Amino acid sequence: TIAYLNGDYLPVTEARISPLDRGFLFGDGIYEVIPCHQGKTIGFSAHMDRMGEGLEALEIASGMSAEDWLEVVNQLLQQNATFIPSGYIGIYLHVSRGTDTRRFHAYPKDLSPTLFAFAFELANPPKCDRDEVKGLRVALAQDRRWQRCNIKSTSLLGNVMHYQHSYQSGLDETILFNAGEEVTEASSCNVFAVINGEVVTPSLDHQLLPGITRKITLQALQTANIPHRERPLTVTELKQADEVWLTSASKEISPVTEIQGQPVGNGKAGPVWYEALTAFNTIKFSA
Ligand code: PMP
Repeated sequence: TIAYLNGDYLPVTEARISPLDRGFLFGDGIYEVIPCHQGKTIGFSAHMDRMGEGLEALEIASGMSAEDWLEVVNQLLQQNATFIPSGYIGIYLHVSRGTDTRRFHAYPKDLSPTLFAFAFELANPPKCDRDEVKGLRVALAQDRRWQRCNIKSTSLLGNVMHYQHSYQSGLDETILFNAGEEVTEASSCNVFAVINGEVVTPSLDHQLLPGITRKITLQALQTANIPHRERPLTVTELKQADEVWLTSASKEISPVTEIQGQPVGNGKAGPVWYEALTAFNTIKFSA
């Protein structure tokens, strides 16, 4: 496939960066994954806003406007269309602080950032069918990541370790909870639960990523007049919920049917999930 590196398009296997890049040495960077279906982006401007906030928090000036990134995204979609025939493409965007000849924690403010982007095949989105959709089986674990999880940092070791924990047991994800037994998110997704007819998702704060799919899901719930609320969600509530869903760029809204070996509700994708995904699918390209 074709990648973008610092202004050039080239085969991804030929892209080279310095080992002194602070992205490599410190995980000092910000990234995004923009989902695209059949050449159309989902949530592009929301992804740009979140990336801008992350770069501002890290004091990195990428020198790229949203229009500049859109050009990169469209070039990568065009140049990679034949390599990814399914048409479900994730565009990965990455800005790291750049190369410094010293290895020193404090960053100079005048480095040239490294700009990298590439296209990869996304998993097929979930089938909007209660009988056909693949239900996810998940583990539960105490959230051991850092206290700035709202920043989409390329330092993903905590997320990697949490994901690996479920993957090694043949499960699909790990849902995380804080010291107060409140659900934060999953290692690469946000979490929703249906409790007494109301859809609940943890409120945004430093403990979770403000997912773009989460945001579009909330819009979809609003559009479809489905009662919903952002508030703390306890582990006890999660285990007793009628439905649990995970949201992310690749999973869209996917139903969780098993938590720690116990069925969620009746162990099948639920009716509120079906309504929510139906509404999501009608607004996703315009959200
Ligand atoms: N939380 C974490 C920790 C993530 O890495 C992601 C992205 N995979 C999400 C939530 C979901 O965010 P989005 O909907 O923007 O993909």
